[in-house]
Amino acid sequence: MKKIAVIKGDGIGPEIVLGAIKVLDVVSKKYDFPLQYTDVLMGGIAIDNTGVPLPQETIDICKNSDAVLLGSVGGPKWDKLPGNSRPEAGLLGIRKGLEVFANLRPAILFPQLKEASALKPEILKDNINIMVIRELTGGIYFGERSRVNLVGGGQKAWDTMAYSTYEIERIAHVGFETAMKRNKKLTLVDKANVLESSRLWREIVTKMATNYPDVTFEVQLVDSCAMQLIRNPSSFDTILTENMFGDILSDEASMLTGSLGMLPSASLGNSKLGIYEPIHGSAPDIAGKDIANPIATIMSASMMLRYSFDMEKAALDVEAAVSKVLDKKYRTIDIMQPGMKSVGTIEMSNLIANEIK
Ligand code: NAD
Repeated sequence: MKKIAVIKGDGIGPEIVLGAIKVLDVVSKKYDFPLQYTDVLMGGIAIDNTGVPLPQETIDICKNSDAVLLGSVGGPKWDKLPGNSRPEAGLLGIRKGLEVFANLRPAILFPQLKEASALKPEILKDNINIMVIRELTGGIYFGERSRVNLVGGGQKAWDTMAYSTYEIERIAHVGFETAMKRNKKLTLVDKANVLESSRLWREIVTKMATNYPDVTFEVQLVDSCAMQLIRNPSSFDTILTENMFGDILSDEASMLTGSLGMLPSASLGNSKLGIYEPIHGSAPDIAGKDIANPIATIMSASMMLRYSFDMEKAALDVEAAVSKVLDKKYRTIDIMQPGMKSVGTIEMSNLIANEIK
């Protein structure tokens, strides 16, 4: 029996998580693999019910689970709250609490969605399959920050990007190991021409590269990488980078694949316990309308099967089911193209689940 803590969250969160659970239920039955779900609160809904974005009970239940399935948190209702009380603080807190320092964000273009990509077919070439590995528990999102009033008026604010050797080594290890299982090419993305923290990253990762002679290792500045992702995306295989750069670049990479609604993620630490969530947010503009694309969350469930439960065959089953449903021309509104069949969140989830049966 595997225990899954379920954080539905806010906005479209509950809708897309239900879709992923539908798929996991079918996998559970097909492979005779019992799953137990426990709903826990985080984000805006947790603030409304408990006064805080991440109740201790949620951390405890997640820590005692085999995996965490997360929808998304946040929304305009809570936007005016101070930083530490906002729904997104729950997100940072659960990542830190479970010590999931490695965020794996695959950006894969399904050939059926070439038309939905923001790029021209000649730039996309045959395929886009990039794995962005983002450091998740350090850097500027967790560094010291403050704001002071200046004498004579105005204010000054600052955030700190800090990394230690240990933090860089452990994520770089994940980067090289992941590259070894893929096309053996790793690009470290940094801003070493300006930032001291980037210079430390570059020193350490370049040194570690000598232990992986089979991996073609290269470094690239973040501004150049942002440009190359649009100009020549198929030149990338595995990208390794710090927290904020990874946040931005993975959203950019998502547009190569057609929609934010297609991109899953896995956040992993030293144990098998991981957090699985789509890379998009709570999309308050489309919440409650049964139009959100559940595929990113369903693909996140597939990553859960692969990384937390070692069920590669079941993970491939889910991915094949998504591909078959796209072959049959079913599309949610975000990836809709002329001649395709428009379906909502529930129907898309049912179609994928039925393919797995
Ligand atoms: P967003 O990702 O929620 O939405 C951006 C755009 O993409 C919107 O137009 C939305 O409708 C669309 N979109 C997103 N997911 C979609 C899906 N599955 N199907 C179809 N369309 C989809 O980003 P935002 O609007 O900047 O943020 C909204 C809220 O989400 C904010 O409160 C933000 O802080 C929060 N947020 C949460 C997470 C998270 O929970 N991990 C991540 C990012 C943003």
